[in-house]
Amino acid sequence: MTLHLSNLRVFVPSTPSAPLIAERLVESGADAVVGEVSSFYADAEAQQRWAFALLPADVSEENAREVLSRAQEFGVPVDDRRGQGEIRGGKGIVTLVGGGPGDPDLITVAGARAIAEADVILTDHLGPYALAEEAARHGAEVIDVSKLPYGKQVSQEKTNAMLIEQAKMGKNVVRLKGGDNFIFGRGYEEWEVLAAAGIPVRVIPGVTSATSAPAAAGLSLTHRGLNHDITLVSGHVPPGHERSKTNWHALAQMTGSLVLIMAVKNAPAIARVLMETEGGRAPKTPVAIVESASLPEQRVTQCTLEELASDSATRDVQPPAIFVIGEAAGKRMELAD
Ligand code: SAH
Repeated sequence: MTLHLSNLRVFVPSTPSAPLIAERLVESGADAVVGEVSSFYADAEAQQRWAFALLPADVSEENAREVLSRAQEFGVPVDDRRGQGEIRGGKGIVTLVGGGPGDPDLITVAGARAIAEADVILTDHLGPYALAEEAARHGAEVIDVSKLPYGKQVSQEKTNAMLIEQAKMGKNVVRLKGGDNFIFGRGYEEWEVLAAAGIPVRVIPGVTSATSAPAAAGLSLTHRGLNHDITLVSGHVPPGHERSKTNWHALAQMTGSLVLIMAVKNAPAIARVLMETEGGRAPKTPVAIVESASLPEQRVTQCTLEELASDSATRDVQPPAIFVIGEAAGKRMELAD
């Protein structure tokens, strides 16, 4: 039976899990208002009629106390959901699991064990999604937080809210990411909101695509006597963009291996800066592009920096892909299957 709360006005104090609760209330027909405790005060004082106030499990003591006292004063009932995390008699926990580049065999032993023991797994589409599917066949709940059914991205706020909500229900939660959670993976942000909500967090490091994609393609990022540095850069914003935090000119002048992640769209613009900077990389600098590393559809393309700059090399490159730029990209081993 679906509960219909038509036209009821529900106040939910703002917490990480509040947006998700509000969304559910709205789905059942209520008018949910997520706000600061002071807005509830003001509205209650103006004799606004609140149907009820809802205290999410992750509300702070102080805010809960204020809502409860004001609700009592104005005769507003309170749905107090604090403490519901103890329903299984234990506290929930979230394990941030690095899943490796995609081949299910490239997760760590500890990561595979954590997935096998999880009640619920929040996963992206990168990494070993197949392991989550297998866990689902054994009864785990799997929530795909990379996309909504209609192809929309799940916002980070919603992912955070779901992690908190599941853990507060006392569940053993795995947050599965491709590669390593702390390499452009929002691991720290998730840890921060979970810590603020009082939820214990474990970390299982993963094999990042930044180093494993080149290795899977027969490339060594270091060569004795050839290079003494590897630089990992995200190419999700192009050089010169107001949000770019990278000193591209400094990078151009470096001599070792440059690894670009999330760069399919911006690789040609990046290649141009690397060549055009004074003292920058030579046009004939070798480049290797590794698509879908470790997966059956893995593809490796080799070209030069000037070819990358002209767009011809990347025209049909599909994400996920890793770009390796530098002398090391020109030395590729033939690998046995
Ligand atoms: N945390 C991840 C990176 C997330 S950002 C890690 O440590 O690997 C997403 C980017 O990772 C993609 O745009 C792509 O550049 C890279 N990537 C992830 N999996 C990949 C794969 N199997 N092959 C090539 N690149 C991959």
